[in-house]
Amino acid sequence: MAAPTPQSLVLSFEDARLVVEEHAAQIPPGADEVVDLLHASGRILAEPITADRDIPPFPRSTRDGYAVRSADLTKLPARLIVVGEIKAGPRPSPVPLVLNSGQAFSIMTGAPVPQGADAVVMVEYTSSSLSSQNIVEITKGVDAGENIVAQAAEARSGSLLLGRREQLDHAAIALAASVGKSRLQVFVRPRVAVLTTGDEIVDVDGRPGPTQIRNSNTYSLAAQIQEAGGEAVLLPIAPDEPHRLRRLIEQGLESDLLIMTGGVSMGRYDLVEQVLSEMKAEFLFTGARIQPGRPVVFGRVPLGHKEGAGAATPAAALLKYFFGLPGNPVSTMVTFELFARPILEALAGTSPHPLVFVHARLKSEIRVKTGLRRFLPAVFSGQHENSQAELVPWQGSGDIAARSRANCYIVIPPDREQISAGDWVAIMLR
Ligand code: AMP
Ligand code: MG
Repeated sequence: MAAPTPQSLVLSFEDARLVVEEHAAQIPPGADEVVDLLHASGRILAEPITADRDIPPFPRSTRDGYAVRSADLTKLPARLIVVGEIKAGPRPSPVPLVLNSGQAFSIMTGAPVPQGADAVVMVEYTSSSLSSQNIVEITKGVDAGENIVAQAAEARSGSLLLGRREQLDHAAIALAASVGKSRLQVFVRPRVAVLTTGDEIVDVDGRPGPTQIRNSNTYSLAAQIQEAGGEAVLLPIAPDEPHRLRRLIEQGLESDLLIMTGGVSMGRYDLVEQVLSEMKAEFLFTGARIQPGRPVVFGRVPLGHKEGAGAATPAAALLKYFFGLPGNPVSTMVTFELFARPILEALAGTSPHPLVFVHARLKSEIRVKTGLRRFLPAVFSGQHENSQAELVPWQGSGDIAARSRANCYIVIPPDREQISAGDWVAIMLR
């Protein structure tokens, strides 16, 4: 018996994205684990990081030069008596150094500024005479505070430096290192099942028949999943046959998220939606008015259809999200970025990154039909304020070679038919 296919629910790009963002906002973070700082890049913090002491812990010189009283430099050139040298690092004596009027300390970058000094003069504006080595002549005045970072100016002891659910980039890693966190509590990476469908698809190591093609989507998706903070779980290729497809979908739903590719278009053997309908899936949308990627499907499945999901199972675990991404490889890549990534990021414990568009001047004219928001592979080039972008010639959304020559997408709003060379266009960099 053929199951009913779901009602068509084709949304504008903005509405589809909003649906995804609203669901992402409801997803609670999962379990956490401890990792070494060296392996924490890109992970999501499960604990707040606070300053273990003032940063900097002492007033720090930011230059090599002389610690002085700025008031001593009102008449130039000024001659001051050099009473000592302060280098960065531990000092032999615990007695605090004090600077009096008419005096200077030679000081290095990163060294503590002595009491009584309120500025550092850069060595470039000084000269020490050969005859009297303890005299420095200074040719430029300084304002109070110049070339000094005051104690605690960057952070006060105990203050919050990095919040729970923040992603660790290299700067955050430096901050964690600076407060002595060699091990960090982070969220466990969500497991994302990848299921490719289609009788024409053979795996990379297989021998494709004359009318078959190799599976590339599983691998581009695995790369995108890892890059977005997930762990890809690869399932076998599903044939265009409902029973086997259902078994594999059920297997995929054991992961935190299921991403399928292929089988979501209008063809007679596009069975994904039909099989999910039989499983009582709720379809949140079944298409978006975009190109490439129009037949993208997003929904969730109650896990009650399976034995084992008892009353003790928490509510969140009773629903699993899935995406049915179109099979054409560039459509798969684009729809992952636009729609699947926010759900994955939420499962990974962070709040989804908003889509960021930069702007560039169009190099050559574009003409398209209205009605769809387009994300067309393009090359972004040029420097500084001269950034330019131009479409890569392509054979449509199956053209992986063209996509790999591109480094961005030009985004064309649905009401534009024509964009002239020299006009500003929006660029999506990923
Ligand atoms: P479908 O969405 O199943 O109608 O597939 C659309 C197009 O994408 C067809 O030309 C498929 O052969 C191709 N395709 C589907 N799955 C994959 C895959 N895993 N790797 C490469 N191409 C695929
Ligand atoms: Mg197919």
